[in-house]
Amino acid sequence: MKYDYLIVGAGLFGSVFAHEAKKKGKKCLVLERRNHIGGNIYTEEIEGIQVHRYGAHIFHTSDKKVWDYINQFAEFNNYVNAPVAVYKDELYNLPFNMNTFSKMWNIRTPKEAKEIIRAQIEELGITEPANLEEQALSLVGKDVYEKLIKGYTEKQWGRDCKELPAFIIRRLPLRFTYDNNYFNDRYQGIPIGGYTAVIEELLEGTEVRTGIDYLKEKCSYEKIADKIIFTGMIDEYYDYCLGALQYRSVRFETEVLDEENYQGNAVVNYTEREVPYTRIIEHKHFEFGKQDKTVISREYSSEWKVGDEPYYPVNDKKNSELYEKYRELAEKEGNIIFGGRLGAYQYYDMDKVIASALELASQELI
Ligand code: UDP
Repeated sequence: MKYDYLIVGAGLFGSVFAHEAKKKGKKCLVLERRNHIGGNIYTEEIEGIQVHRYGAHIFHTSDKKVWDYINQFAEFNNYVNAPVAVYKDELYNLPFNMNTFSKMWNIRTPKEAKEIIRAQIEELGITEPANLEEQALSLVGKDVYEKLIKGYTEKQWGRDCKELPAFIIRRLPLRFTYDNNYFNDRYQGIPIGGYTAVIEELLEGTEVRTGIDYLKEKCSYEKIADKIIFTGMIDEYYDYCLGALQYRSVRFETEVLDEENYQGNAVVNYTEREVPYTRIIEHKHFEFGKQDKTVISREYSSEWKVGDEPYYPVNDKKNSELYEKYRELAEKEGNIIFGGRLGAYQYYDMDKVIASALELASQELI
């Protein structure tokens, strides 16, 4: 055996594990299908601006251990995510807070907002929310649901809100204060210099080969390491033998514009069904950029098919049951471990990816 670990995928999970393994004196080889490292947190500099090529990534966590860990590899700025939502000719602050409610109902106090929401919920008579629609309605009532949630969610997931799990909407805070911070977490920011530099730091001193599709070259690689850490799609690893898991993919239309400030905010969501994209990201605002030009990306969501990049697992009942079957197969393996958003088929944020890679490292590396 030439290596202790063969790590398939140079994203955040694989890179954190590789770093920890190297620290313990293990020899690792990282294989990456794309021609660059970083997975979906990859950033690339265009016009002096760090562009999030596979979608906006805002680091946020309440886990001090994870925050301290990632801060070894980057200095974070003080960016706080505060998206705005455009619905027809109306504009609202997100997440759902007093700024949203005062604009929607022309009211001022938390008491007034709570009373309107309570009356709307009472009319609906939902007791135990069984899906995303019922969960959203029973949190914020009909007006907010119809203007800011329904259209956006159906575009993003390509499914009716009644067919989606309730936990997706519980990702967003609901508050009765005038606070537009999209996250409730204690720590938040964007790494100065971009995410690719963070991955480079993590992989410092580890052998990495890009442009190698492990599943196509399995014969020549599977025998060169004691253990394999696989961070790609678990169903693809098993050649979809139990059926294909569903994922959502995203297509980005990225443009360089010859103007200094296009939309005045990093994230603007378009919540009505009729606008074909879900949001526009203006990358410079993640780093308070002062460049003469700007770079924007429109996000179009679609159902994943072979050849597309997978972004979001569809964690509904049907897919979760199928994933369980793949997980049972994986558990019988002697020398392969699955991890990361695709390997674990979980809608993980970056902090959870780091926590799970560190957890694996603590079990594996002695
Ligand atoms: N969501 C919504 N309206 C918005 C933003 C989000 O209804 O303007 C819902 C939507 O269902 C989405 C979920 O909240 O899938 C989670 O949004 P988040 O911003 O966490 O998604 P991500 O940034 O991971 O794409």
